[in-house]
Amino acid sequence: MSSLTFDRTAAVDRLMRFLAIEGITGQEKAIGEAVAKALCGLGVPASAIRFDDANTKTPLPTQTGNLIVTLPGTRPGPRRLFSTHLDTVPLCAGAVPVRKGDRIVPQGKTALGGDNRTGVAALVTMLGELHQQKLPHGPLTVLFTVREESGLWGARMLDPAELGNPIMGFNIDGGSAQTITIGAVGADRWEVEIIGKASHAGVHPERGISATIIAARALAAIHKDGWFGKVKKKTQEGTSNVGPFGDGQGRPAGQATNVVTDFVKIQGESRSHDTKFITAITSAYKSAFVQAAKAVRDDKGKTGKVKFTTRRDYYPFHLKENSPVIATTQAVAKSLGWDATLKLSNGGLDANWLTRHGIPTITFGAGQHDVHTIQEHTNINEFYDGCAFALALATA
Ligand SMILES: [Zn+2]
Repeated sequence: MSSLTFDRTAAVDRLMRFLAIEGITGQEKAIGEAVAKALCGLGVPASAIRFDDANTKTPLPTQTGNLIVTLPGTRPGPRRLFSTHLDTVPLCAGAVPVRKGDRIVPQGKTALGGDNRTGVAALVTMLGELHQQKLPHGPLTVLFTVREESGLWGARMLDPAELGNPIMGFNIDGGSAQTITIGAVGADRWEVEIIGKASHAGVHPERGISATIIAARALAAIHKDGWFGKVKKKTQEGTSNVGPFGDGQGRPAGQATNVVTDFVKIQGESRSHDTKFITAITSAYKSAFVQAAKAVRDDKGKTGKVKFTTRRDYYPFHLKENSPVIATTQAVAKSLGWDATLKLSNGGLDANWLTRHGIPTITFGAGQHDVHTIQEHTNINEFYDGCAFALALATA
């Protein structure tokens, strides 16, 4: 068994402080500065702490870049990366954390933000304990990302050269520390603009081309052909969904009952562990909209039009079970007396982009539960496990 110890009271107090700082996705300045200040207070040299410029490359307004801490080793060896995200979902705005037995819960009707302040507090604790206990460790980079919740932007837009060439990565974002995510789906986000033609719905309906009917026909075909929801074709599997359906500006498609609706905008997504199948699902949506547009005509035979665009949000990955990062993870888990389980995730993680940047990265949890809901809570014992695991991985 590992003989590492750490100050649990200080760790949980730190978590409570970080949970109380608002920092929804894109607005990470206050939490980023609080983390940098906490690290300086724990003896991490200010020269090792900096913010990158990933926010300037992100197409959504973002207050600050990723916070990166780079430490030389107290002994030589390959560099290891630790990562976690600073931002929380908008439902966490105004959260007031309170301790209830073994849990931390939100006081009011908000989410808590344990996703992902548990990871933030665990990594600050790790860095503080390394320094204060003078524990020997190899070279380390610790990355606190921005805008994870709105599309993994901080991890996506970082410059891998700034991380100092770590050979493996450990990301904290989840519930149990003993459940190790070794792969995750990739995803497309797509959107379609359907252009019909307006006409008075009572006087000359035949002169109109209804964008709503085109959308309805396309989505009915998608559903009938098995491309909606859980998608299974031969050996391939994935998921898809249709999200916002309206005029693209937050209003309903069609602003009046007496006008044939001439414009609809729909946004959706496709996911799979198989890159080619993500493309196949997205293509099925595209061709359904194209076909439906051809089938809806005005009295002159003119058809509607569609403009379909897609963006690869992130790529799937699946680490090999004999890869060094998994071998290290399992050996360290064993040293803590744990029997870690490996799993794949159907949601994207910063690890998708870190692995894509050439750093094979696993993900474990530090006690977040029922995230993105007002039932969110943090399990304090699992948070301790997350801290212990990070410390053991940094020193092993
Ligand atoms: Zn998260």
